[in-house]
This record gives sequence, structure tokens and C-alpha cells, in this order.
Amino acid sequence: MQNIIKSAGEILFPRQCPVCRKVQAYGKKICPACARSLSYVEEPVCFQCGKPISSPEQELCFDCRIFPKSFHGGRSVFLYNNRIKPAMMDFKYKNRRILADFFIGELVDRQGEVMSSWGADMVVPVPVHRNKRKKRGYNQAELLSKVLADRLNLSHYPNLLIRTQDTLPQKMFSPQARLNNLQKAFRFNPEYKHLCSHNASAILIDDIYTTGATMEACSRLLLAAGLKKVYICSICIGVARE
Ligand SMILES: [Zn+2]
Ligand SMILES: [Zn+2]
Repeated sequence: MQNIIKSAGEILFPRQCPVCRKVQAYGKKICPACARSLSYVEEPVCFQCGKPISSPEQELCFDCRIFPKSFHGGRSVFLYNNRIKPAMMDFKYKNRRILADFFIGELVDRQGEVMSSWGADMVVPVPVHRNKRKKRGYNQAELLSKVLADRLNLSHYPNLLIRTQDTLPQKMFSPQARLNNLQKAFRFNPEYKHLCSHNASAILIDDIYTTGATMEACSRLLLAAGLKKVYICSICIGVARE
């Protein structure tokens, strides 16, 4: 009987590799080809954002040296390249929400120890504007934050930050100008003011981290609202410039 149920399930939900979607052997997280080709973040990493750096003495990556960040640490799991990109695009734009479990599983398996050592109280997603959410049907960062909060046994506050502006002016003169504009695009939700009076700290999560401008804008808002510490994590991270 169990076998019948199992094969019925397999017809409905073929065992696909979550990354390339090819049918794969049961019991494997991803297919052997993807296991060989995906690039995982390895130590040493930037003390602030978690981007791989060439030597531990460097401590900070190029972007964090040029634009010091307000957050207190960060971790990511995959280097953002053409191998992981299609899965990330499917997750972000094509409603493959199921990938949240795989992505967070990989993040927690590889970085969970460090993330638990932060002693954070809550998980907060980088918000999207309501127009984008309506169009897409979901906020991909919120899918991630929910699974992460469950896995780390932390509170989940998907509406702690609100995105008030959907699009930013195209012409950005400098990273500083971009950051200033981004800061105006988000707001701390006043309904949660009470959370900030208890020395609380948060893990902020987004799908992809590149220069860190978006995370930095959100981190500054959380700290300005009174949170004690902010940590960041992402599923994919860009390679550091030298
Ligand atoms: Zn695969
Ligand atoms: Zn960095």
C-alpha cells in the first residue's frame, strides 16, 4: 500500500533536482551535475557582509572597505553565477516558491552555526513594494524569512519594514546617492515600535546580495528604530571586487 502511495506521489511530484529540474535519484538534495557545478561560499569571508575575500588578514571586502556597513555580520551560501541564476530567477519571478525550503536548507546546513551564534531574536525580510507584491503574488524574501525563522526557532516579522517607493530614479551619481535614495524607499513600521525597547536584534534576509546598498538602507532603519544589532543573510552573493 505504501508503495502505491509513494508511486502516486512520484507521478504527481516527480523527484526533480531543485536547481536544474532534471529527474534525479531519490534521497539526494540536488543532482550530481549541480552538486559539482554550484559554487558555495567558502572561508575566508568578509567580516561584515560574508562575501568571500582572498585572505583572512583582509577582514573586509572591497565594498565594505569603501562603504562601511552598519550591520554586525553576514552570511550567504552560493556565489551568484550562471549555475544558480536560473533557479534564483524561477524563485523570484516564476512562482517556484518551493525553492525557499532548498535555499534555506543549504544556508542553515552550511552557515547555521554562525547564524545561531549571533543570538538574534527575529528574522525580517527585505520588503517589496505592494504593487510588486500584487503583480508577483509574493515577496521572495518573505518566503525565505519564514522558513529561516522556523529553522532557527526565531520570531518572524514580515512587516517590520515597509517599502514605500517601488522604483528609484534611474540616474545614480554615486553609491552614496543610491543609498540615500534607497533609505527614502523604506520605512520602519510604527506598529512594531515596542519590539525595539528590549535590546532586540534581527537577522535581515534577502535573496541576492551584491553591493549591499539595499541591505544597508534596511539595516540603518532597523538600528535607527532602536534595534541593538542587525545581521544579514542572503542565498546568493556577488564575488568581491579587488
Ligand atoms: Zn541539478
Ligand atoms: Zn563585505
